[in-house]
Amino acid sequence: MAWTGDPIWLADVLRAEGLAVIEHAGWRGRGHGDFRDLRGVMCHHTAGGGPNDWRVVQDGRPGLPGPLAQLVLERDGTYRVIAAGVAWHAGAGSHPGWPTDNANWHVIGIEGVNNGVGQVWPAAQMNAYRRGCAAILRRLGGPASDCVGHKEWSSEGKIDPNFDMVSFRAEVARLIAGSPPAPVENEIDAEALVARAWIGARLTPGELPTADGVGRFARFANGTIYWHPYVRNGEATAVPAHLMKTYAQYGFESGFLGYPTLRHTVVPGVGDIQAFEGGTLYRRYGYDGFPVRGVIGKRWAAEGYETGLLGWPISDEYDNGTGGLAQDFENGRLQWDPSGAVKEINRGSDAM
Ligand SMILES: [Zn+2]
Repeated sequence: MAWTGDPIWLADVLRAEGLAVIEHAGWRGRGHGDFRDLRGVMCHHTAGGGPNDWRVVQDGRPGLPGPLAQLVLERDGTYRVIAAGVAWHAGAGSHPGWPTDNANWHVIGIEGVNNGVGQVWPAAQMNAYRRGCAAILRRLGGPASDCVGHKEWSSEGKIDPNFDMVSFRAEVARLIAGSPPAPVENEIDAEALVARAWIGARLTPGELPTADGVGRFARFANGTIYWHPYVRNGEATAVPAHLMKTYAQYGFESGFLGYPTLRHTVVPGVGDIQAFEGGTLYRRYGYDGFPVRGVIGKRWAAEGYETGLLGWPISDEYDNGTGGLAQDFENGRLQWDPSGAVKEINRGSDAM
């Protein structure tokens, strides 16, 4: 094999791939002893899903001392480099070319932050997951077939990661070879056909890459069509110009909204609505548009969305002055306070 011993190059290899890296203090010395020859990468999800998942991976849990993987991949695509030594992540299992029930001394473990029960995998995270695996395998001189899901290896019934490893590995193989993603012209063309009644003339000849280098988009007279291979099952989605104005204010697909996940809805004479990975945009005709998301968005949904008593959003979320967030709607205000009750509602108060 190309490398024997601890992968002290992990942070450098990920950074060289253009990935965001946080090096945890002491990572080069952390581990349950030294690696033998390195044979691949194992993909996991944390089953937590929050910003503190890395703590368990680094420190362990009762009965299982950390580290529990070498790398943690945050939801924004940032890698935390936790350990260069052996970590307890693989358990019992088998894979061709790997020692049965003994992968921890031969395989780098990556824990992707996801609750594993329906939480979305943001495009930035999945993109970084594939690129990180490709960069490590390129360094090891190994093929994409040595990028293995815990669920594929395990003889103990592990189910992580909860995404399709076959298509994941296919993309890792393309990245190792350094070739671009598969051509996508047809998906954007197909969406343009669906939207032909309103979207108008095509302004972009062909397609342009999005900021993540993986997605594509094309501009039309009355809207823009976005495509990403791992969003909406690889189908392209049109965003009308009226919502594009608001989408632009929040940084397009590289902002917190991410890519569109549903086609837009027109409320005749009132406004437009469209769901994105990180929230939903609402824009009444003649007014600014705003995103609704998170805890406040859930509460507003429970109140009946824009057709409920609160009506349409008339502000973005803002600091409520006591460490929480507030958002104004046509007929009231929703507040979320992390220190006290989860949320409170002041319908018909001074929200306007
Ligand atoms: Zn696992």
